[in-house]
Parts: sequence; C-alpha cells; structure tokens
Amino acid sequence: MNVQPIASHFIDGQYVEDTAGIPLPVIYPATGETIATLHCATPAIVDRALAAAARAQVAWAAMTGTERGRILRRAADIMRDRNHDLSVLETMDTGKPYQETSVADATSGADALEYFGGLAGSLTGEHIPLPGGDWAYTIREPLGVCVGIGAWNYPTQIACWKTAPALACGNAMVFKPSETTPLCALKVAEILTEAGAPPGLINVVQGAGEVGAQLVTDARVAKVSLTGSVPTGKKVYAAAAEGMKHVTMELGGKSPLIVFDDADLDDAVGGAILGNFYSSGQVCSNGTRVFVQRGILEAFLQRLTERLQTAVIGDPMDPETNFGPMVSEAQLRIALDYIAKGVDEGARLVTGGMRIDKPGAWITPAVFADVTDDMAIAREEIFGPVMCVLDFDTEDEALTRANATEFGLAAGVFTCDLARAHRVAAGFQAGTCYINSYNDAPVEMPFGGSKLSGVGRENSKAAIEHYSQLKSVYVRMGRVEAPF
Ligand code: NAD
Repeated sequence: MNVQPIASHFIDGQYVEDTAGIPLPVIYPATGETIATLHCATPAIVDRALAAAARAQVAWAAMTGTERGRILRRAADIMRDRNHDLSVLETMDTGKPYQETSVADATSGADALEYFGGLAGSLTGEHIPLPGGDWAYTIREPLGVCVGIGAWNYPTQIACWKTAPALACGNAMVFKPSETTPLCALKVAEILTEAGAPPGLINVVQGAGEVGAQLVTDARVAKVSLTGSVPTGKKVYAAAAEGMKHVTMELGGKSPLIVFDDADLDDAVGGAILGNFYSSGQVCSNGTRVFVQRGILEAFLQRLTERLQTAVIGDPMDPETNFGPMVSEAQLRIALDYIAKGVDEGARLVTGGMRIDKPGAWITPAVFADVTDDMAIAREEIFGPVMCVLDFDTEDEALTRANATEFGLAAGVFTCDLARAHRVAAGFQAGTCYINSYNDAPVEMPFGGSKLSGVGRENSKAAIEHYSQLKSVYVRMGRVEAPF
C-alpha cells in the first residue's frame, strides 16, 4: 500500500503542499522503514488554513443543524465503508495491530460523526419565564474557529472526536495531528469533504509543537482542544489563556485499577490486560497501577503471566497478531529506561520488559510486582506496556493510595460486592471510572480527566458544552421603570 499522501496538508477542500516546510518522515514502527515524507507547515500554510476556516465557518453556522448533521452522518457511512483501508493506514501510522485498528479506530471515529451528526439538529437554547410576564431565552451559538491538536496513539479517533462535535455545533476546525502520526487525519478531512463539508470547514496542517503553538496563539482561534501530555497541556492552556480561549485538555494519567479478593479472577486479569497492554500500553486512560488484595496476589500474578504467554507478537498486519510494536524508537527508549529504573528501585520484574531483537520498536509486555507507591514506575506516566502490581489489605487503604496521585484520568474496580463497587467508584478522584471492566469509551459516555489529567469532556452530550456558548436575551414585556 502506498501511504504517501497527495500532499502534506488539507486546506480549503484540497490537498496543499509547501516544500519549504521542514521535512517530516513517517516511520512504520514495525520495521523502522520510512513509508512517506511530508512537510511541516510554514507560517504561510498555517495562515491559509486559519483564513479558510474563518471564511467557511460563517456559512456553515448559518445552515440548519439538520443539514450539518446530514453531512456528518454521510461521512460516518463513508468511513465505515472504507474501514479496511483506513485501518491499514492507522496500523502503518501507529504500528497498532490490524486486529485492533479494524475495530477501534475508524469505527470509533464513525461513531462520533454519526452521534454528533444526530445531535446537530437538536442543539437549541431554552425559554426562561420571569416575574411580571418578562422572559428570557438563550441561543446556543458556535464558538468560531476551533483548533484540534492530537497525540499519536489514536490519530483517526482523536481527529474525529474533536471535529465531529465542533462541526455539529457550527464551528470550523483546523486540526494538527501529532508529528509522529500525520497520515490518518488527512483521510478524515478528505472524507468529510466528500460527504459535503464546504471547503475550509475542516483543514489539516502538519508539524510539531511550533506549528501547534502558532495555531493556539492566533487571534482568529476561539477554542483549542488538545490531546497530549500534561507538560504540553500546561503550555497550551497557558497560551490559550492569553486570548481567553475555550479549552479542552485530554492529558496523561497514572490510573489505578483495584482488584478485591472477591472479584472474578479471570475477568480481573482480563481487565488488567486490556488496561495495560492494548495498543502496546499506549493508552492515556490505562490502569497502570494495579492494586491487588493480598489474599489473591499470587493467584492473580500466576494467571496474568499464563495469559501473557499467549500474546501474539508479530506482523501488525497479520489478523492473528494482538500485540504490536511501540510507536517509535523514542517511545520504546522511555519504556526501557523506566523498566531499568523499576529493577533498580527493587521492584520484581515478573515477566517481559525485554527489547525484541529485530528492526522496529518491539518490546515484550512487562509486569512488575512488589511495587511500592513511592517508586518512579508507580508515580510517573510511562505510556508503554509496563504494568505495576501493588498489594493492599483494606478498601480504605486501597482507595487512599489509588487517589494519591496528581493525575485523575481514569480508575477501575473489580469486585462482586455491588455496594463496594459503587462506594469505590464514588470515592475515586478520576473523570472516567469502570466497574468490572476497563477502558471502554463509547461515544455516548463522557470521557475526560480531573486533576492534572485535564479540563472538559469529549464524547456524549457533555462535549456540546465545550464547543458552543450560550447567549442570553432578556425580554421585558412591560414599561421600563428608571429611578430618574
Ligand atoms: P505530546 O504532549 O508530546 O504532544 C501532543 C501534541 O501537542 C502533538 O501534536 C504535539 O506536536 C503538540 N504540541 C507539543 N508542544 C506544543 C505546544 N507548545 N503548543 C501546541 N502544541 C504542542 O504528547 P504525545 O507524546 O503526542 O502523546 C502522548 C501523551 O498524550 C500521553 O501523555 C498520553 O497520556 C496523552 N493522551 C491523552 C489522551 C486523553 O484523551 N486524555 C489520549 C491520548 C493520549
């Protein structure tokens, strides 16, 4: 498959190239080969994209929500029809196995387009009766030009999760994918345009942090939605504050997963596997601190180790493969450094954590036991396939330790005690919680973090609040009484 796009950027309804930009090689993580070369946006390209978005947004906002929604839903259908090709591209961009990408990326993007397309026609204000026959009404208005900035782990999904609600509300979008995975967002823009989105409504510009910073600080931009790390989030939030822009921050985490001794052991092990090794551990909401009640600790570790031996590590395009490479050599290095640090700190490496000796960014899934709360591997986000298992005795203790982190993205609990499950979920300091499951992200459910893990919510009706604003109109029905 030739993955070299027609051009690096997508602006005003068409592909645009500017070879004056810094070259941006795209590396296939499974082999280390360069599969495409793009160019970062020059300031002129960024300006062109923002100007096109500002122009397109006015006419788009004047359409009815039903008309806007129809285009989003048509784009969802095209995406589903092309799921195979889009999944192959997602695999080439990220290295994630086709077994995953064929069910989790374009499909999730299509869900967002369909869901927000369905909501678009019902986005209205409200009528507010007031004393003396007066009344007020609210108008739900778009924000204007929105900027989306993506991380590299879910390039199609992130582009859709930001663009779908933005467009449904009557905004235009300029999206900058991660410089590590620049290919998939171009397809999202192409498909929306084919579905009828007017030129300029969705634009994609390539580049690293400098290009992102240029977008965030531009006066034409009303809203910035970032998916990325906490340090980047702090910078982008601060830059957006200068212009009092709206923000959504989907940032990192070090989420807890608590397994009580009455849990179904296989389900709990399955949840821990999903919450640590899906996408080779490169998922923001992963439950990387697995607290296991002392009585079942050894049984849990044994079952986990057995099941990890059955992981199929190999060619990501082979439908049997369920564990691919990491996204890049740089990300693999970070994971290997943390593994070395974990060993130094005295944690017990139960299984995995070895670099696989072949080209590409390959590592075996790692499990540490005897981890203590103060170790770096238990405190810092690794963003790789490294699970930390910690033991505990009581519910209070587990919850207190689970919450003792600056992050608050997600959290999970496995138990068969109904009351305890809800008590623990209520006690978690996290935006997205799971009971007897982990890492599900249906479009109908709000997704996002608390504490340093973020601001705002993606998906669900909650996302509408973050891509629109209310105008209030007071209507006096009687005479105006003034003091003089
Ligand atoms: P990153 O923070 O390095 O980069 C994220 C994006 O921000 C990239 O597109 C990058 O080019 C851009 N950027 C960097 N500096 C910028 C600046 N000063 N101004 C504007 N843009 C800038 O993150 P990453 O390595 O691409 O992704 C991994 C991180 O993303 C992890 O921390 C992970 O937890 C997080 N993440 C969060 C979610 C979520 O929904 N909460 C989802 C996926 C990933």
